[in-house]
Amino acid sequence: MSQFKDIITEKCPVCGEGHVFKTKGNPLLFQLPKMEEHCAVCHHKFLKEPGFFYGAMYVSYGLTVAEMLIVVAIVQFFSTEIKILLSVIAVVAILLSTFNFRLSRMLWMYMFDHRKKEVTQ
Ligand SMILES: [Zn+2]
Repeated sequence: MSQFKDIITEKCPVCGEGHVFKTKGNPLLFQLPKMEEHCAVCHHKFLKEPGFFYGAMYVSYGLTVAEMLIVVAIVQFFSTEIKILLSVIAVVAILLSTFNFRLSRMLWMYMFDHRKKEVTQ
């Protein structure tokens, strides 16, 4: 459960204390989130190798598909017109883009980095 909290609060996968992102980004200003290179607490390097986060794109794709299915299920109750449905999907996809960017990278890092603290607890 603490790992889930650390993923949502964007903490380091190794120590669970340092922040992973410098900025959260803003989809309305076309600003992507910026990552720290190393954890400020344990100095864990977030970018293990060049291209490490390419796999996070697949995680982001899965998140986006799941979110869009939820949007379709909700919008269906209000309108069945395809233009409205596609417009709502586009707006939601844009608004959630930076959230998906950060969450997919966090999930990707937590799949490959192991926490050292949990061994001692
Ligand atoms: Zn750390």
